[in-house]
This record gives sequence, C-alpha cells and structure tokens, in this order.
Amino acid sequence: MSPVSSAPFPTFTIEGYPRVGANRELKKALESFWAGRIDEAAFTSAAHSIRLDNYARLRDLGLDQDYAIPADVALYDQVLETAVTVGLIGGEAADIDLTEYFALARGNAERAPLEMTKWFDTNYHYLVPEVSDDTVITPRPQRILDIVDEAKAAGHVVRPFLVGPVTLLALSKPTEDAAADFSPLARLTDLIAAYTEVLAALAEAGVEWVQIIEPALTADLTVASDADLAADAAIAYGALLAEVDRPQVLLSTPYGSLRQGLDAVISANPEALQVDLAPVTLTADPEYPQRVAAAVAGTDITLAAGVIDGRNIWAADLRERLEVLETLRKGGVDKLAVSSSVSLQHVPHTVAVETNLPVDVAGWLSFADEKITEAQALATAVGGDTVDAADAFARSDRAVRTRRESARTHNRDVQDRVAALPDGQVARSPEFAERVEVQKSLGLPTLPTTTIGSFPQTPEIRKARADHRAGTLTDDQYTEALKDEVRQVIELQERLGIDVLVHGEPERNDMVQYFAELLDGFVTTEHGWVQSYGSRCTRPSIVVGDVSRPEAMTVEWAKYAQSLSERHVKGMLTGPVTILAWSFTRDDVPKSVSADQIALALADEVADLEAAGIDIIQIDEPALRELLPLREDARPAYLDWAVRSFRLVALDAKPATQIHTHLCYSEFGQIIDAVAALDADVTSIEAARSRMELLTDLDESFHSEIGPGIWDIHSPRVPDVAELSELIKAALVNVPTERLWVNPDCGLKTRGYAEVEPALRNMVLARDLVVESLAGKV
Ligand code: GLN
Ligand code: ZN
Repeated sequence: MSPVSSAPFPTFTIEGYPRVGANRELKKALESFWAGRIDEAAFTSAAHSIRLDNYARLRDLGLDQDYAIPADVALYDQVLETAVTVGLIGGEAADIDLTEYFALARGNAERAPLEMTKWFDTNYHYLVPEVSDDTVITPRPQRILDIVDEAKAAGHVVRPFLVGPVTLLALSKPTEDAAADFSPLARLTDLIAAYTEVLAALAEAGVEWVQIIEPALTADLTVASDADLAADAAIAYGALLAEVDRPQVLLSTPYGSLRQGLDAVISANPEALQVDLAPVTLTADPEYPQRVAAAVAGTDITLAAGVIDGRNIWAADLRERLEVLETLRKGGVDKLAVSSSVSLQHVPHTVAVETNLPVDVAGWLSFADEKITEAQALATAVGGDTVDAADAFARSDRAVRTRRESARTHNRDVQDRVAALPDGQVARSPEFAERVEVQKSLGLPTLPTTTIGSFPQTPEIRKARADHRAGTLTDDQYTEALKDEVRQVIELQERLGIDVLVHGEPERNDMVQYFAELLDGFVTTEHGWVQSYGSRCTRPSIVVGDVSRPEAMTVEWAKYAQSLSERHVKGMLTGPVTILAWSFTRDDVPKSVSADQIALALADEVADLEAAGIDIIQIDEPALRELLPLREDARPAYLDWAVRSFRLVALDAKPATQIHTHLCYSEFGQIIDAVAALDADVTSIEAARSRMELLTDLDESFHSEIGPGIWDIHSPRVPDVAELSELIKAALVNVPTERLWVNPDCGLKTRGYAEVEPALRNMVLARDLVVESLAGKV
C-alpha cells in the first residue's frame, strides 16, 4: 500500500550531517550542563540553536528542496535517540527527561551507563540497548514530532530520521537476566508495532518523508547471518510499508553493499532506497551498481545513489562518480537522486577553516560541506546540466590531477623500500621458544608487573601543552616540564615496586596524532573534529601520501626515562594498524600499502631504540579488531596484512629485545588467532571486565607471554588486593606461571593519581601475595 502523500524525493540529499557543531558547540553545551555550569533551560536552548544553525547552513549549501535536510538529531547518540523514541528503552515512562536520558548514556550514582561500542566499522560509538522478553516497549513519538515542529517553525521542511528496527535489535544485547538463548531480534514484531505508531504520528503531523536506516543489512554480524537479517527486514518492512498511515519511507543501507538484503528491501517496495556506492564499497563489490540497478529497474522506487563517500575526506573524482550514476541509469533506474554513502557525521565540517593546510592539500580535500556541493554538482550533471556543475567539476579535475602528480603523495625511496620486501607473511627469527630463553637475561621476576604506557594527563600537563601551543612556554621550558613529569612517573613506579617501567607518555596528546605529526606523508588539521561519542570528539590525522620517518620519534624520551632507573623502561610505539584505523586513509592505494610503509618507519624506530639501550619495546595495536571488515569473506585478507605489518615492525629486532603488544576495546574471540599470529613476546590485553573470560579462548597457538588486565581502568573504582589476587589466580587456571604478567587493562591517561597510586600499589601487593602462595605450594 502507498501512503497518501506523494511529495517527490529531493534530487540530492545527504544521509546525515555532523551534530556537534562547527566549533563543537554541542560538546561545550553538554559539558557545561553536566558540570552544572548551565541549567536545563540554557542547555536546551543551546541545543536548539545548534540544530537550527545546522539546518540553515545545509540550506545555504543547496539543500533547499523539501525533505533534503536530514534531521538526524541526537543529544548524545543516534541509537539511544531512536531507542528512546520507539520505546525500546525507558520502560513504561511516557517521557524520558534530560536527567534520565543522560543517566542512560553516562550512568549515575545508582546505575552503570549503557555499554558503548563501535558503530559498524567506524570510529563512532553507540550505546547498546538492553532487551529481554520482559522489556516493555512504549513509543514516544512526541520526541520526533518536536524535532519536526522546531524545524518547521524556522522555515525548514526536514526529513526525520530513525535507526530501523532490524538494526536496532541486531545491535542490542540481552539484559543480564534474559534467558540464555534469548536474542533481542525475538522482539521484532513488538518493535514493529512501535515503529508503526511513530510513523502514524508523523503522517498525522503532515510529514511526507521519513528516513529509516538499516546498516545491519550490509554486515555479517555474530548475532545473525546475512540471510537471517534479510528475512527479518522482509518481515519488518513488509509490515511497516503495508500501512497507509505513514510518511513515504527512504530506506537506507549505509556502510557496505547489500547481499541477500537487496531482494528483501526491494520486495518491501519502499518509496525510496538509499544504497552505499562509495568507491571503497565498489572496490569490495564491483558489480554492486549493476545489481542494484537490475533490482530497482521496473519498480516505482526512487534510488538515492550514495555516490559521495561519507567516510573519507578526499575530494570526489566527479567524472568517475558520474559514470556510476550513468551505469544506474543505463541499468533501468528512472527515478535517480544523489546522496552520500553514509552519514557525513564521520567527517569534519569544512575544509574552509583549515587555513594552515598546505594549499595543494586543501584542494584535495572535501569535508561535509564540500561533499554537499559535490552531491549537488552530480545531481545537476546527471540531470543534463553541465554548465551549472562546471565549477565543481573543474575543482574535482584539478584535485584528481594534482594529487596524482604530487611529490607529496609519491616518494620513490619509500616505494622502492616497500617493493623490496618479501611478499606474503614475514616472520621474526629465531622463533619465540628460542627468544624466550635469550630474554631470560632480562632478569624479570615471577609474574612481572607493568603498566600499559600512559600515566595520568594531569591539568598541569594539559596546561603546559596549551601554553606551549600558545607560545607562552618556550620549547625548552615545555621539554623541561615534560621531563619533570617523566621523572616523577619513574619515581612513583619505583616506589610502588613495579618491575617494568614506562615513561608515562606525557609528550603525547594522542597516541596516533603524536606519530602522525612526526612522520612524513601525514597532515593534521586544526579544526577537523569528528564526534566519537557523546561530547567526545577526535581529530583524525590524514594519510596523504607515502609515509616515511624523517628522524627518530620516541628515542629521546625513552633514553631519558631509562637513564633515571636501573629497572627496564619500555619503549612505546603505536602500531601501523592502529595508526591507520584512527586516521583518514588514502583512497589511491590499498590500506595494506600504507601499513607496510608505516611499519618500515616504525621498524627504524625499533632499531634506534635498541641502539639507545632500550631492551623492551611495546607496539600498541588496540584497534586491530576495529578495522575487521563487516563481511566475513573479506576478513582473512585483512588479518593477513594487518599481522604482516605488525611483524614488519619487529622483524629485525634482536632476539634479546622483548617485544610487547597491547590490545583493548573489544571481544577478541573473532581475532584471537590473529593476535597470536602477531608473534609478540608479551601480549597485554583488556580482560578485567569480562573477568578473564577471554583466556578460555586461548589455545596452543597462543604461545606468547600474556598480561590479561586485572584492573578495569575505565572505572574510577580502586580494586582491592583480594579482588586483584583473585583475578591473577583466575588467570593462572589458563596460563602457566612463567608466562603470566600482571598489569592494568589499558593506559592510565584518563585516570587521576588519587586512583592510580592505590590501585597500582594493590596490584603489586596482589602479585606478591599470589607469588607467596605459589611458593607455599612447592
Ligand atoms: N600505550 C597507550 C597508553 O597507555 C595504549 C592506549 C590504548 O591502548 N588505547 O595510553
Ligand atoms: Zn588499551
């Protein structure tokens, strides 16, 4: 059945837009409100202005057709927003006030916050709804109606936004008391009823288009296969779209290509379908445009072709993008609109404010605002008007040509060095069994204690960094301040009796940006903030070209720290995969090529650290799991190059050099073989929250020494000695004594000394206690 309205779909649009504001206004408003510096009325008014400013900007940028502006608004997170609106969260409450809303997101004195995890393969985090058979679903359509009204009052006809029911449930987790075999997707029918109610309310309010996103259909998830999700989508949209009382639906499927889900969504016959046709998606699935065209041809569906890449920052090659649109046309798509592949929330606002970027580089980039201009140009050109699109095409041509020819992107020496590497997997020699014997010369005690690298970034360090940036602290003064910090961190660790020390990383504002700023082939922005979650934003660096290391990056700090102690101080590097995962990467070479290049630069750093007398070096790879492709069949190839690049860093390390790695942030079950394959000598890994569960996944292939974190540093709670020694004993059930290390879950930079000191003291005491009891047993 079709709804009453038949307002046309706009000729171009975007999937979504950054929510934090061009100057991170939302971040500031949120943090002021949470800190009690502004009251609820002031916060609400600030949030209102940010939304309306965004709408006005989008309209100025050309999104002036009705429903072209996506109202993908959320004060904290889009999943939380939809879950509250359709009532999957919040129980029977008729409304969720701000206090409750933020308690869900951030916890309060009585309650832990909802779990947070990565949104598909992006660096955005969403809040995970908890669902059981008993979950009461109470739709709250007023929330979304308010958004529509607010926009309307300011003269904007916006397109309300919902995460779809299949994705919402696929991303939820069972409550702790749910039956063991309960899957949140079992509540699909109930949830569809709630969506029906929300859509009816929108129709009643005169809304003619709504956007519902179903990214789960582009991924192989552990909770449900592609076929299961497609079947669920067929049920959900079969039911939702059969209603007459609803707006027209733009069903959108970002973050990859549809497989079985394509038939399911086409047969549900939405008024519009948005698909991800970004270059990366087509590299993985080259026939996708043809498949989509064949499916859409002969239907009445408007195809919103997501040809503008919403996940990367490169200026689009408009001629090549236009060809994709032509392919769709030739394939029989009559109603064609242009869109972004995914929400632009993953890129910064605008290149225009980056006045310190090299001019050539600035011309190669498109952030959110520039991408809208690109979408408009494509819509104009595909409509046959090449004159109006001429400027945008000229900019694109210039960007494509100058980037291809630039000396900034191509470095012969680096390319030759990578070309000279052996193909396929590489291995450090001698193998672990032999290395571990040689490394006994390190003289470490039973159950050695260490930390993951960073110590608290105190207000003093932050102030010194800000003063240095502002020019009120000279380079020398800044270095002195940092050295002072390193000295205190070393002294503290010695006082606490930790065995393997770290320098504390005070010189690093960020573990990736620090290296990006020192390596050639990267650029960094000044204002390129992207929301990570809630009020948290990151400023990803950009890999523009071939990467090399002009000079040593960490050696002076490591040397200085080592000079202060008789104990071993670890050198501390960020691994190639993590550097890539948290940066914007090139689109002109595969990630594996950049990974090899970064690995070689880091291998030189390893050699320099060894020469400076550092005999333990940690290469952090917390993001190894994050880049895992959404589709299963793409995973082995990824893991292969990821492991190779890590191994390249350590390849020529001396047998006596103990290589550590560190991982966190995820379930490792899926990648545990790859973690083993890194072939580090010591692996520290987040484990405290899951109470060492991960250790049961380890098999013989995991030969390295291992430090499962025993202190969950994400919580301000200081664990006591009894609790910590229990966790060490729990680890000893699966790990032999001579292979177990004792350490926290992750770096300590977000904690304060008030927690760090007692927690580390307890950690060492717990270790001593366990060692004593082991000795007692013999
Ligand atoms: N060495 C880093 C630190 O301690 C590792 C951080 C991380 O794993 N995210 O801060
Ligand atoms: Zn970590």
